[in-house]
Amino acid sequence: MRKLETKTIVVASHNAGKIREIQDLIGPLGFTAKSAAELNFAEPDETGTTFEENAKIKALASAAASGLPSLSDDSGLVIDALGGDPGVYTANWAETEDGTRDFTMAMQKVETALEKVGATKAEQRTARFVSVLCLAWPDGHTELFRGEVEGTVAWPPRGSQGFGYDPVFQPEGYETTFGEMSAEEKHGWKPGDAQALSHRARAFKIFVETCLDA
Ligand code: IMP
Repeated sequence: MRKLETKTIVVASHNAGKIREIQDLIGPLGFTAKSAAELNFAEPDETGTTFEENAKIKALASAAASGLPSLSDDSGLVIDALGGDPGVYTANWAETEDGTRDFTMAMQKVETALEKVGATKAEQRTARFVSVLCLAWPDGHTELFRGEVEGTVAWPPRGSQGFGYDPVFQPEGYETTFGEMSAEEKHGWKPGDAQALSHRARAFKIFVETCLDA
């Protein structure tokens, strides 16, 4: 496992919600981090079929473009009753004809698919959010960190916090969806904390504990 020696990195993402959450996590650790979006890097095509492959594509593209270590996130919602869909295609389910993303529509698509297979009870609607973070160096070395959080798909959507599919994801052991949680409750974590809730914060915890010696 290679250690991260520099305090300047690039957040290899164009997704405002992810960038905000990763900035919340790395900020207190003393990092200076710009995002690939701020640096106007082109968004690479996510041609992989796993979270790991797509996370690597994004982190390597950003490390090559910036000459700096780059941290990407590839994530998605994996729903058991849908055979793992939308999975790595979670962002694609939100794509509209004009190329923008509409998550109200995407959440409705998920609900329609669940109704189609008769998954109406909570126990038939189990799912997990997965996040794979990839740290890539300009020389092509990569390290991967995977975080998952179990839960169920709620309907109708509840809450307006967070981003993406947060209003329909209710983590196990909670009465609220991610959309009803504060940023701190959803993804708050700092070195020394025993646990983090969100998939991204769980992956980040592994990154810090293995690559930073924090
Ligand atoms: P990708 O990693 O760019 O392929 O996109 C993953 C998609 O999964 C995002 O566009 C979001 O819609 C969704 N997603 C990932 N993490 C979260 C989360 O923490 N909350 C809500 N939606 C998420």
